[in-house]
Amino acid sequence: MTVEYVRGLDVFRHHCPIDVCPWHHDEPTGGGPRRFAVDRRPDGTLDIGGAINRDVAERAQRREAIVEAHAETHTAMEWVTEVRRLRRALAVAEQESWRP
Ligand SMILES: [Zn+2]
Repeated sequence: MTVEYVRGLDVFRHHCPIDVCPWHHDEPTGGGPRRFAVDRRPDGTLDIGGAINRDVAERAQRREAIVEAHAETHTAMEWVTEVRRLRRALAVAEQESWRP
């Protein structure tokens, strides 16, 4: 799966792993204002790093679920075709890497 930054939309675009499939999932970069549920440590200080880590993990889980739900819409034959395409592309890349 490829991911690209789309400047005009300020999103990370996650493409479907199947090369010929036009589906994609746009996810905001997170650069704007965000709200976190920040826990207090036993000593009373705020655990901001923990809140950010939790937010990143939750966003990754949501994104994976979205991509996985889409990936399941493809047939086994489409996956086989994609694997064959990737093997051919890899073979070409390996041949080209040996050229002087
Ligand atoms: Zn797809």
